[in-house]
Amino acid sequence: MRELNLYGPGDLRWVQRPDPDLQAPTDVIVRPIVVSRCDGDALPIHRHVSRAMQAGLVTGVLDPVVGHICGSVPFAGPFAIGHECIAQVVQTGADVTDVQVGDRVVVPWSVSCGTCATCTRGLTSKCLTTRRTATGERTLSAYGFGPASGPYGGMVADLLRVPHADHMLVRLPDGLDPLRVAAASDNLSDAWRTVVPHLPARPDARVLVVGGAAQSIGLYAAGLAVAHGAATVDYLDSSSRRRRIAESLGASTHPRNRRDTSPAREYDIVIEAAGNTNGIRYAIRATAPGGICTAVGYYTAKNTGVPLMHMYANDVTLHLGVSHPRAILPELLDWVHANNFPAERVTTLTADFDDAPHAYAERTTKLVLTRDAA
Ligand SMILES: [Zn+2]
Ligand SMILES: [Zn+2]
Repeated sequence: MRELNLYGPGDLRWVQRPDPDLQAPTDVIVRPIVVSRCDGDALPIHRHVSRAMQAGLVTGVLDPVVGHICGSVPFAGPFAIGHECIAQVVQTGADVTDVQVGDRVVVPWSVSCGTCATCTRGLTSKCLTTRRTATGERTLSAYGFGPASGPYGGMVADLLRVPHADHMLVRLPDGLDPLRVAAASDNLSDAWRTVVPHLPARPDARVLVVGGAAQSIGLYAAGLAVAHGAATVDYLDSSSRRRRIAESLGASTHPRNRRDTSPAREYDIVIEAAGNTNGIRYAIRATAPGGICTAVGYYTAKNTGVPLMHMYANDVTLHLGVSHPRAILPELLDWVHANNFPAERVTTLTADFDDAPHAYAERTTKLVLTRDAA
């Protein structure tokens, strides 16, 4: 089978691998039919980050956790990339009861068991079972981040092995277009957790999205906030193309001047999707007393200048952390289906699965690869 590997910036190639097989009776083999590119994947594809990050780890400028996730040479190719997909089940282990051959399913980006203490609390990306190794623990167990995150490979592949399949796989509701929820494995779920759980406690919420490098997450978050009835949804971004998409989802949009460090208004819910420390400082200063700011980027530096005194004075909650899509996918998929949420408006390029090596390197906000079901 083919598996897409990242060799270096702009250099992606199909690599031939043996087909995966069932290693446990709870495993399933799936065939990805819709794959989308996570915002984070654009980083090692479009920028020469690997050598700089390696140097940062050696000199201590970067947090050592970066190495625990990506290895001591972060994003060094070749490795299998991709961790958002809708797939079709093609083979099931003897103990699998909840999914059947032919089902269309969402495969979450992180691998979890569903029964350990952290999974039971909904923190599925910190699953104790799947992070356990012969020599200790991995920081994350996931598809598409290279061998430091486990032996699972990437999702831009002809076939994929999914462990703990009855728990891991979430069936697509009948009639829901897989292209609509192409990013449910990660970015759409990530956006959901920044907004939706915080709205009930904050009626008439004012919501701000600081857009940028977490391109699709910021846009999904803006759209979800509008569709869930937030009183105000302001979307701030230097990119006019992304602002047009945010507008199409009902947000009020404004160009962002990156030198501006003092927000003119304050908001109850703030999403930091610029993906840098400048963005996080701005987002926190824009958060109203009692408000919550969720930052979804990778903040790899040790010293980030987070304005702690401002947070203290204003009772601001800052939430940072990996998303746990498995825990929210059933609610998210049902809601998107029932409310016809047009998440596909965020997709800026749809390409044929076979063209992955070229398409995955495109400079575009949201890439989705697609092919026919078997
Ligand atoms: Zn991701
Ligand atoms: Zn677990």
